[in-house]
Amino acid sequence: RAKAGGRGGWSFFDEEMDLELRKRRALEHDLKQAIAQGELELFFQPIVSLTHGRVAACEALLRWKHPERGYVSPAEFIPLAEETGTIGAIGEWVLRRACHEAVSWPSGVAVAVNVSAAQFRNAAVVRAVMEALTESGLPAYRLELEITESVLLTDNVATLATLHTLKRLGVRVAMDDFGTGYSSLSYLQSFPFDKIKIDQSFVRNLDITGNSRLIVRSVVGLGRSLGMTVTAEGIETEAQMEQLRLEGCDEAQGYLFSRPVPANAIHEQFERLRLKAA
Ligand code: C2E
Ligand code: MG
Ligand code: MG
Ligand code: MG
Repeated sequence: RAKAGGRGGWSFFDEEMDLELRKRRALEHDLKQAIAQGELELFFQPIVSLTHGRVAACEALLRWKHPERGYVSPAEFIPLAEETGTIGAIGEWVLRRACHEAVSWPSGVAVAVNVSAAQFRNAAVVRAVMEALTESGLPAYRLELEITESVLLTDNVATLATLHTLKRLGVRVAMDDFGTGYSSLSYLQSFPFDKIKIDQSFVRNLDITGNSRLIVRSVVGLGRSLGMTVTAEGIETEAQMEQLRLEGCDEAQGYLFSRPVPANAIHEQFERLRLKAA
């Protein structure tokens, strides 16, 4: 502990850090029990085909309902789970739940699951994917794994081997948050992704700057040349959707179509979106 300065400023700062650390420890501890306590829930958000107007897939998005703190954002607890190693068990749970839900959907609808870099650090992810598919009976081509470039930053050779193994199973692989990292482009060179998801920051700026539109146009062209599906995330307005459609973007996801909803509410969304498209 830093010794108290003339006015005690340092020790105050110290106590604040102490409190932060204790809060974090408590959250880590709670997260370890979250699965067993039934506090985790998967929400699903439709991804709509801009060419057919149909729901092409739904992305599984994890929610943690903490008994005292209410809903904790995955942006907060996923990094915690990664650091503490809990992500392995959580990731397996997510894969199981997601595949289990998806078998009850129309057969043209795939399920997209986020897989984090920490899950790729051991080969258990392949076994987890195979088990989730076998147990649920979901065909592999209806499962899509979304990875961010942080996956490829770690231990490249082993990670690429794992990705290839997954692809051989028939699972599709998407690069999430495209355009936000350091070397998204170079990763396209090292692995045959099936899909790229344009990050929502580009979509948000579509209304504001002409550059975003040119960037979207280029990414669509790039995806097309490489034979990949191009999806845009975070569509909130009709105007954004129209621009993306004009630029030839294949799929769109965002609050304009639907917010992420609990599993038992997704069938209503299928109905509603089908009616809207007709
Ligand atoms: P992501 O995979 O890029 O997911 C998209 C995020 O954008 C989700 O946030 C979604 O709710 C949000 N979103 C969708 N449409 C819109 C829109 O129109 N406007 C705005 N402002 N936001 C929109 P969410 O659910 O908070 O998840 C945040 C991140 O947490 C995800 O980003 C993903 O990286 C991670 N995550 C979520 N679930 C899982 C999981 O099961 N496993 C792992 N490893 N990561 C997960
Ligand atoms: Mg995602
Ligand atoms: Mg994303
Ligand atoms: Mg993200």
